[in-house]
Amino acid sequence: NLQIVLASRPTGRPSPDNFRIVRTPVPAPGEGQVLLKIRYLSLDPYMRGRMSAAKSYAAAVEIGQVMEAGTVAEVLESRHPDYKPGDIVLSYSGWQSHAVADAKTLRRLDPNQAPVSTALGVLGMPGFTAYAGLLTLGQPKAGETVVVAAASGPVGSAVGQIAKIRGARAIGIAGGPEKCALVRDEFGFDAAIDHRSPTFAEELRAACPDGIDVYFENVGGKVWDAVFPLLNTFARIPVCGLIAQYNATGPFEGPDRLPVLMRDVLTKSLTIRGFIQREFVDQYPAFLRDMGGWIADGRVKYKEDIVQGLESAPEAFIGLLEGQNFGKLIIEVA
Ligand code: NDP
Repeated sequence: NLQIVLASRPTGRPSPDNFRIVRTPVPAPGEGQVLLKIRYLSLDPYMRGRMSAAKSYAAAVEIGQVMEAGTVAEVLESRHPDYKPGDIVLSYSGWQSHAVADAKTLRRLDPNQAPVSTALGVLGMPGFTAYAGLLTLGQPKAGETVVVAAASGPVGSAVGQIAKIRGARAIGIAGGPEKCALVRDEFGFDAAIDHRSPTFAEELRAACPDGIDVYFENVGGKVWDAVFPLLNTFARIPVCGLIAQYNATGPFEGPDRLPVLMRDVLTKSLTIRGFIQREFVDQYPAFLRDMGGWIADGRVKYKEDIVQGLESAPEAFIGLLEGQNFGKLIIEVA
């Protein structure tokens, strides 16, 4: 069994030596368990938080422990009546080639319904984050303007496409011309703005002539600075992620923005609401039904960035935090 464990905690940007590859014997399943061979493993921004000992909404990975991750796996051996060898399941097995899991923690996947890797992206946690966060907290209405950054990724691309289904205008923010072209031409956003452009803030303003009604916050940093003055009265801001600051050390750059933020929260009646997707777990069946339907009828499209080999995971993950991925980042393990 090949595993990638946390070797040390990063300060700032993670480096490959924060991780270590170890070999252990393939474990044997106990009663009610299955032995899994991992096919795909999901790399997600939240893993940066798990590498840190700072207090957060979930416990940190301990030094020497296998890095956590959602995984798509094949059942090799089963000691539970519901599963048999060859079944494909969604599990939470982490950065490794094999794992034992309790059968009751698994979800069976149907390879005939959609490629099984989508259970880690558009039909999995990131897609669900977009669905629940946008519809429950963002509540976009027809004709409103919805803005989202990291718009070529699994969360942002779904946010914009669901906003379009609800009749809103969708404006995506992404890094570089290639990602912007994908957001506009493939995902069908009304406009895509490159946050690396020297005239980013002006371009965003021009793309939002009626202001912004929903800003789905994925990044923070200078993207937030450009969005903030464009927010309309009664704008909703689901705060989903702040990836621009996940590698930050020490105090943040620039002036204290809090007094101006609070002034506008008051005078524009802004609703700013953070969330972690699992709080909406009740909506999962509705999500699978709606998103499954939208993918089947072509209303929602997705892009995956599949990198080969478990040993590639550390470099790929470090790159994810800096926008090196192009679509939902997945490691093909087997
Ligand atoms: P993506 O696949 O979109 O990857 C992250 C992207 O963030 C990068 O590709 C990069 O895109 C962008 N990015 C990185 N740094 C910056 C920066 N400084 N300024 C602007 N953009 C930056 O990730 P996901 O779709 O998986 O996740 C998107 C967000 O959603 C993350 O913040 C994540 O933490 C959050 N999230 C929150 C959940 C919750 O429950 N609250 C659940 C799941 C995800 P580009 O090259 O376009 O800049």
